[in-house]
Amino acid sequence: MLEVRDLSVRFGPVRAVDGVSLQLAAGPFGLGLVGESGSGKTTIGRAVLRLARISGGQIRFEGADLATLRGRALQDYRRAAQIVFQDPDNSLDPRMRVGSSIREALGAHRMVPRRQSAGRAGDLLAEVGLDRDFASRYPHQLSGGQRQRVAIARALSVQPRLLVLDEPTSALDVRAQARVLSLIARLRTERQLSYLLITHNFAIVSELCEQTAVLYLGRIVESGPTRELLQAPAHPYTEALRSAVPEIDWTARRTRVVLPGEPPDAASPPPGCVFHPRCPLAVSRCRTEVPLLRPAGPGRLVACHRAEEVLAGAVIGGQPTAGLPRPARVAQCYSAGRTAPVAARPFRLS
Ligand code: SF4
Repeated sequence: MLEVRDLSVRFGPVRAVDGVSLQLAAGPFGLGLVGESGSGKTTIGRAVLRLARISGGQIRFEGADLATLRGRALQDYRRAAQIVFQDPDNSLDPRMRVGSSIREALGAHRMVPRRQSAGRAGDLLAEVGLDRDFASRYPHQLSGGQRQRVAIARALSVQPRLLVLDEPTSALDVRAQARVLSLIARLRTERQLSYLLITHNFAIVSELCEQTAVLYLGRIVESGPTRELLQAPAHPYTEALRSAVPEIDWTARRTRVVLPGEPPDAASPPPGCVFHPRCPLAVSRCRTEVPLLRPAGPGRLVACHRAEEVLAGAVIGGQPTAGLPRPARVAQCYSAGRTAPVAARPFRLS
């Protein structure tokens, strides 16, 4: 459905995205983009929606090059691809009632006759688990989780096939996160949605995404099936992100890998592997030679000179990575709506 080839996005001297390639299948399908802030994941999402100017590469949606879309074709794409922001206030006008916000989106894309738009707005509120009478409320009269549901209802109002979910739960409390994640899991099946899920939290992609790409300083450092990345990371950065997921099986705790320092300045990245100043496994070769993305198993790619050693259990953070308890099951906490640890259960994708 969506193909990103060798995408680059520059802001002056800063390479925010540098040679990223991704593929998104038709729904239901989730692709997670995981990384710290400044890794380029939000810029990729904005480029996919034509909200950021690309400096190189190509983005194709259902075979069409986005850069060539004009007029009616561009309008159709704007309807087919929608975004849900981290902060629902970015998509809701505080001066408009919730129902009016949804009706505005319906009207802008002529989705239903005007006289049917109020009923349709009520249907959409019901679909995201809110009472129809929420239509008469203002955003400030709703909780953060309820506002995010309204933002999702607004995005769904134009019947998109592709969603960009930009940290959709990170501004919410744990209970609201659980409900919104469950809602996304249900909608992806019911509406056959494909989405790019942008997050810094591996626990969230473990529940909602078949594939994951890990980004560092605008580049993919590892990609592949989410389950396999969680079970056996091939890149030290993936291992560090994964170790930050709270382990809720108390009989199987693992050591958290704490990376030293901050990501370097993207305007003057370090030579060789851009991760080497923070990498616990860096050797002299890493300081001079850029690691290229290369196969690391079926459907997997990694950019690390020592990927085989990481997979085999090289020492990171004081413990061998092989044999550590995997994967984290905190996402099952989320999906069950719990706020306290639960006993370990078999890992599964929704
Ligand atoms: Fe670490 Fe070297 Fe691999 Fe980069 S190439 S992640 S510095 S081991």
